[in-house]
Amino acid sequence: MSIREGKWDCKTCGQKGNRGPNTYCGACGSPRPDNVEFYLPDNAEEITDQALIDEAMSGADWICSYCSTQNNAFDSYCVACGNKTTEDQGNKKLQEKETYFDQSDSPEISSNQKPSKGIFKKLLIGAGTIAAAFIILAGLSTLETDVDMKVTKLSYESSLAFEEYKNIREESWSLPQGASAVSTFRAIHHYNKVPDGYVTKTRNVKVKVGERKVKVGKKDMGNGYFKDIYKNVPVYENRTEKYQEQVFRQVPVFMTKYRYNIMKWVTMGPYKTKGEGKNILFKENPDTLKGRPDTVRNIKTDVVYSITATDNRGNTYNENVGSKIWLKSSVNSNIKGTISTVFRYFKRYKE
Ligand SMILES: [Zn+2]
Ligand SMILES: [Zn+2]
Repeated sequence: MSIREGKWDCKTCGQKGNRGPNTYCGACGSPRPDNVEFYLPDNAEEITDQALIDEAMSGADWICSYCSTQNNAFDSYCVACGNKTTEDQGNKKLQEKETYFDQSDSPEISSNQKPSKGIFKKLLIGAGTIAAAFIILAGLSTLETDVDMKVTKLSYESSLAFEEYKNIREESWSLPQGASAVSTFRAIHHYNKVPDGYVTKTRNVKVKVGERKVKVGKKDMGNGYFKDIYKNVPVYENRTEKYQEQVFRQVPVFMTKYRYNIMKWVTMGPYKTKGEGKNILFKENPDTLKGRPDTVRNIKTDVVYSITATDNRGNTYNENVGSKIWLKSSVNSNIKGTISTVFRYFKRYKE
């Protein structure tokens, strides 16, 4: 606990640095005002006189409700008029207040920093130009021209998938119903974690080794004195310590496993087949498969059709089409194609 003497400035005559505990201005004799502001000079020395310390610690000065004289907390009667100090008479006290030093050095970061207007404007203009270019290109690409073409090739890709009831080989930890066992063997079912001693390791630890008293603020005692405010701050030390860590071993557990044959519905495919011409072939004939309802089910077929055609400039196009146009076309038949007027890329065949 350190007690120091504060000071106050007289607002009546402008005198600076009246001694804190003095209730009258040393220059003009004006009384210390009710709203006096005490301050602590940086070089104020610590008070060691016990009587002064006791005075400082006795509490804030009180203001006589009758004559406004400021009295020490020790005084039970007003030194000027003899008025008694009791709460019910409405005697007010000077204010005590604590001030803490600012311990955060971090500067404030402004969250509303925006890029400068110039850059923003340039970006906007740039984005606008790109958007405009896209709109023009998109507009141009909607322009279409129909071109006479000749079909040179009809092609397809067929796809076939189905489920087949088959005898398959499987392995499992038990023999299912209806399965016929082929063999049994021992296999690793799982691993057991078995303790296998300890290893010594080191780690860094933060150890509290004591406390340090740090001055964090000052208290205006409301009587011309100030008291330092301290806080106990823990002091840590980094140490390396050894510790034991348990280690484990993985031990395999073997069990009997079955290898067996069993009848199951198995997904087959999808099988893809590419071909030319109008006779669409699949990996297996779907009609034949349909004739085996006991062993085949869920037959799925799909065909992707495409037409290759040449225009009178000698450009060749190849596009996937719907089944309708494919089925009514044949090699050397005429077909109309739609292309982009400006960019000449192929769009679609005309049905
Ligand atoms: Zn004065
Ligand atoms: Zn008085």
